[in-house]
Amino acid sequence: MTITIVPRHAPSIQPDDVWLKIGDWLQRHQATIRSVQWTMVLVYCVLLIVPVFLPLPDRAVYLWTNFTRFAQFIFWGVWWPLVLLTTALVGRIWCGILCPEGAITEFAGGHGRGRAIPRWLMWPGWPTLAFACTTLYGQMTSVYQYPAPTLLILGGSTLAAALIGLLYGRNKRVWCRYLCPVSGVFGLLAKLAPLHFRVDPPLWQLSQLSGTKPKAINCAPLVPIRTMRGASDCHMCGRCSGFRGAIRLARRSPNHEIVHVAGAAAKPWETILIVFGLMGLAVGAFQWSVSPWFVYAKQWMAEWLIENGITWPLEATAPWWVLTNYPQKNDVMTLLDGALLVAYLLAAALACGATTLSLLALAARSLGPWRTQRFHHLAQSLIPLAGAGVFLGLSGLTVSQLRSDGIVLPFVDLLRLATLAMATFWSGVLCWQMTGTYSQQPARRVLALSLVGLAMTPAVAEWVLLFWIW
Ligand code: SF4
Repeated sequence: MTITIVPRHAPSIQPDDVWLKIGDWLQRHQATIRSVQWTMVLVYCVLLIVPVFLPLPDRAVYLWTNFTRFAQFIFWGVWWPLVLLTTALVGRIWCGILCPEGAITEFAGGHGRGRAIPRWLMWPGWPTLAFACTTLYGQMTSVYQYPAPTLLILGGSTLAAALIGLLYGRNKRVWCRYLCPVSGVFGLLAKLAPLHFRVDPPLWQLSQLSGTKPKAINCAPLVPIRTMRGASDCHMCGRCSGFRGAIRLARRSPNHEIVHVAGAAAKPWETILIVFGLMGLAVGAFQWSVSPWFVYAKQWMAEWLIENGITWPLEATAPWWVLTNYPQKNDVMTLLDGALLVAYLLAAALACGATTLSLLALAARSLGPWRTQRFHHLAQSLIPLAGAGVFLGLSGLTVSQLRSDGIVLPFVDLLRLATLAMATFWSGVLCWQMTGTYSQQPARRVLALSLVGLAMTPAVAEWVLLFWIW
């Protein structure tokens, strides 16, 4: 039998395909990417560390006259909203090409002990738990307003990433794969990206048959490349572009992964992250400071405590690294404030999550006999709405930071309304397409869609309250 050597780019691939060229460019320019990463590390360290040594800014300064304000704006007003947006547009290119933490943990991995990854570390719940804890802790310490908690939370995460790199894996990103508090969110948003590294199994097989033995690829986030079908875990670093002539950067429908791939295996922790984390806890985090319910609960609780002669929760405070404590800025949380804040966020997560989950369960059941996998699959249809919510919340910080400096962005309300409406509609479209993979009966499909539509109501209502009613 004659064995044909498979060309690096098989005939089915158009040689002038711009995406293929970009993927290959990434693959050939890893040294440039590393330079970009270390530049980002430098910028990140300066923005993170320098403000801690400067006096807290007063009301008379602007973000272009004060470095602390500038760093705040870059971190929370520009950096995070853009990272979320780019992940939904082009996949986790932030993780693979720009993230300082990813670069540090991989570098540490190249110089560390290289131990085997323990089982406890691979528990799939870590990213969701870490996201919930950092969201809660960030609010308790006012991370968006002050440089010290920013350094503590982001810097702490970076140190942990370096430590994990030093201990486990060789030249790998064990931290990013299993522990990073935002990797769960990025993994969800990347499913919407219209770009991904596509693996062509027949071409891969053909390459193996030909006896070709290409140089091994170091996929730092430990993606099982050969069986990769989605963009969720891929960091878009480009190292595997062209491997065995079977991998290439390619376009796809932004609905494809969620409708046709995400249902293959039930991912309960992703469901929890979407429903309780992004649609509940995160919304509560952006909402509590302007919520009249919070004010009412605080007044009621304070009156009750005074009536019962218990005044210490109204007076006692904690260090800044436990609860916000900046008397010089007239910004101090009492123990009562802190307890109510935590209670508010947990209540928002539980109320929104429980309602949404119940309706999702009914929707899954309406499509036929109960299947857990179908229930978790339907939850994935909520990703556009959940992701848009967090983007709106973070961009709300951008708007308020600019407004406090006298820069009023036009059409903000209209843009918010359009974003919320489009995300809700997109989630509806995903749900409708998903129902088609489970049932051909229009009545069942319409019922399931209606129930998922109802499941979106709490999250939409929370944003409407925040932006247009309170
Ligand atoms: S699969 Fe791995 S090597 Fe390939 S682009 Fe994604 S992260 Fe990089």
